[in-house]
Amino acid sequence: MRTELLPVSPESLARAGELIRAGQLVGFPTETVYGLGANALDEGAVRRIFEAKGRPGDNPLIVHISDLAQLPPLIAAEPGDTARRLMAAFWPGPMTLIFPKSDRVSPVVTAGLDTVAVRFPAHPAARALIDAARRPIAAPSANRSGRPSPTTAAHVLEDMDGRVPLILDGGPCDVGLESTVVDLSGAEPRILRPGGVTREMLAAAAGGATVDPAVLRPLGEGEVARSPGMKYRHYAPAGELTIVTGAEAAVIRAICARYDAALAAGRRPLILALEGHLPAYGDRRALSLGADAAGMAHAMFARLRDADALDADVLFSEAVPTDGVGLAVMNRLGRAAAFRIVEAEGDA
Ligand code: AMP
Ligand code: MG
Repeated sequence: MRTELLPVSPESLARAGELIRAGQLVGFPTETVYGLGANALDEGAVRRIFEAKGRPGDNPLIVHISDLAQLPPLIAAEPGDTARRLMAAFWPGPMTLIFPKSDRVSPVVTAGLDTVAVRFPAHPAARALIDAARRPIAAPSANRSGRPSPTTAAHVLEDMDGRVPLILDGGPCDVGLESTVVDLSGAEPRILRPGGVTREMLAAAAGGATVDPAVLRPLGEGEVARSPGMKYRHYAPAGELTIVTGAEAAVIRAICARYDAALAAGRRPLILALEGHLPAYGDRRALSLGADAAGMAHAMFARLRDADALDADVLFSEAVPTDGVGLAVMNRLGRAAAFRIVEAEGDA
């Protein structure tokens, strides 16, 4: 299959809408990361997503809508109070809500679960695509399974060339990390996957919010993932990534020491660091993760892909505090590192 890469325009959106209606896949921009979309109500089309990504069949997809009127047919009961408050506060935007599903949603979309994940994206091209298709669109991130999520159309092409007929190029994504996935079955909203809508924002809108314990650590033996996607190794670069936490100067010293040891052992190390710290690493090979947690959210997946392009076989990354969007950053970085996190010694 030949893959076309077209800038977002009325013509390319109309073509994309036709492809979706015909059961084909389209790569498209959202404010979080690029998505790989199919008609959510066409089981055969949805299966193509799993094939193109190499995604395990037990990892459910998020259904994207561009109008609140598209929600009732997808869900089994009216949204409750908390759901309505969160929808009013954060839709359209980078927040996904889990609802009991209606019979119209195929178990292929939900991986057999009796719930469906729904998001109303803010990105104008994503909304225009759903409008053009005149159907809700099931879409995971447009990467091959296990690879870092794509935040540019070039990343999508890297992973999906020859596997999809069309990729819409809408420039780099704003947030850079996938949506916040929120479970509504308990007394308080529960974050299954942190994202651009932070715990603090959810708590302010809903009067409280909890974070699933699996967000910042690996699943324990026999523990069932509430969000099936969270059980897989994800976002991983080819090299072995270790995160170093602790006081700033101690972190820099520890990373330099590990880098020098790796180099001496004949390996190809690479450092991922906050912009302001780069000079402290001297002539060691280091890439910028941006100025702060928000910059890191934006840059992280692209830098993990760069690490592969540079053929790094061992990576060391700085960390950020886990408040605000830092929680989402450390969740993705932790998973990319298979939770290899070490504390640097010393406090100065
Ligand atoms: P991605 O499409 O790559 O952004 O991944 C979608 C994420 O949403 C995965 O982590 C899924 O496990 C999660 N998800 C989708 N549907 C559900 C659901 N019904 N219940 C819980 N998590 C879900
Ligand atoms: Mg994904």
